[in-house]
Amino acid sequence: MSRQLPLLDAEAGFYWTAGEQGHLLIQRCGDCGRYQHPPLPRCRACHSEAVAPAPVSGRGRVATYTVNHERWLPSLEVPFVYAAVELEEQAGLYVYTNILAPADAVHTGQLVAVEFEPVEDVWLPLFRPVQGGVQ
Ligand SMILES: [Zn+2]
Repeated sequence: MSRQLPLLDAEAGFYWTAGEQGHLLIQRCGDCGRYQHPPLPRCRACHSEAVAPAPVSGRGRVATYTVNHERWLPSLEVPFVYAAVELEEQAGLYVYTNILAPADAVHTGQLVAVEFEPVEDVWLPLFRPVQGGVQ
């Protein structure tokens, strides 16, 4: 069976393993302070190479989502929700993730918070709706 989990390369590995320490890490530029995801060798805004993982709150909002019917993790019930979550730290800073809620309980603009699911050598950052998300 082929690996369904993300590859832990040098550039992006921190994103998939930070859950072991209990927080979400997003690459941040040490010069201009911008976050970017997925990680890149240089800052997209100022081209600085001083980019490094930085802890974020792990809170955000559902920007867009789709409902999927294919099971790609044993623990995932189908259908499941795959979403772009815009992190609260910066407009336009998205992570692509599963939402741990029934499809009919998810809506755009919903406030969500990260939690981690350890699978083999990765800690999958998944998001769950939290109170106060309805505006
Ligand atoms: Zn920068």
